[in-house]
Amino acid sequence: MKISDIMKKRAAFSFEVFPPKTDIGAEKLMGRGGVLEKLYGMRPDYISCTYGAGGSNADKNLEVLDAVRTLDGVIPVSHFTCVGNTRAEMRKRLGQYLEHGVDHILALRGDLPLGMTGTGGDLHYAAELVRFIRDEFGDAFTVAVAGSPEGHIDCLSPEADIAFLKQKQDAGADFIMTQLCWDTEQFARWMDAVRAAGVTMPVDAGIMPVLDIKGVVNMALSRNGCALPRELCRLISKHWIFDNPFAPTESEESAAAKRAAFREAGTGYTVRLIDRYRAYGVDGIHLYTMNRYEDVTRIVRETGIGNA
Ligand code: FAD
Repeated sequence: MKISDIMKKRAAFSFEVFPPKTDIGAEKLMGRGGVLEKLYGMRPDYISCTYGAGGSNADKNLEVLDAVRTLDGVIPVSHFTCVGNTRAEMRKRLGQYLEHGVDHILALRGDLPLGMTGTGGDLHYAAELVRFIRDEFGDAFTVAVAGSPEGHIDCLSPEADIAFLKQKQDAGADFIMTQLCWDTEQFARWMDAVRAAGVTMPVDAGIMPVLDIKGVVNMALSRNGCALPRELCRLISKHWIFDNPFAPTESEESAAAKRAAFREAGTGYTVRLIDRYRAYGVDGIHLYTMNRYEDVTRIVRETGIGNA
């Protein structure tokens, strides 16, 4: 079954995990009773695994996808990037995915490592990767591509970014997985612009659960430059945990209580965010799990998007 076909019938629901860095992390994710098993219990349509720029964690990525394959009825999806990859290396790695039964790829340019101004590989943009996959492998893969509702941070202009998204569709992409976006009004404006530009692919909305302030601020200010809507700013401000000139002697206990209160409030915020996306009519909800299941299970239960 192809994810794009599922989305033609109903909204899909999925999770994202990353390749673990340690043996303990691997056991937690893939071991008996581990995170993957818990996620599987919620009956997602697919589970995707990220891919480190330059392929440094490519073997671990494949190990995770092999583990996902054993979950009956769940489609394994691999992220894959142009960074540091020659055509020959990409051909080999993509062929390996097919041999392992992984036939869904999220085709990305990749995050450029610090100090690099280009991919350092044979392909420079995601559209070229989509074309490469189609030229080399025909229809063997279902291909997803990234979409940036706020415009990619390096884009020439929002209009140019959408034109490049259209190029990915023209090159043979099947559906879009979006960058996280907390501003649903901006998301709606982007969707209108995307459709007006002739992009007809289904759109799967990426959701990063709002669980800790540092994670949210890091996501907003580092690579993506995401806008923080007023409602989220209010939550952060209310539970502020960084050095506070007005309370320089705040105890660790008090800071820990604020972190717990933020987690609680952030979970509610994430549930409302997903409700808004669903009311808008997106074709899927894709939850970033950060390789944990507890908070995600609660979010799935409270939104009713899966079996939790
Ligand atoms: P592209 O579509 O190639 O766009 C990159 C930039 O170039 C944009 O600003 C675009 O406007 C511009 N552009 C495109 N084509 C042209 C052109 N012909 N001429 C001039 N400018 C052009 N990164 C990882 O490294 N590993 C992951 O596992 C990973 N997973 C992700 C999952 C999701 C759901 C998303 C949304 C992103 C993920 N990323 C990952 C991040 C992604 O690699 C970065 O956002 C990257 O900077 C851009 O990737 P892209 O595929 O959108 O690039």
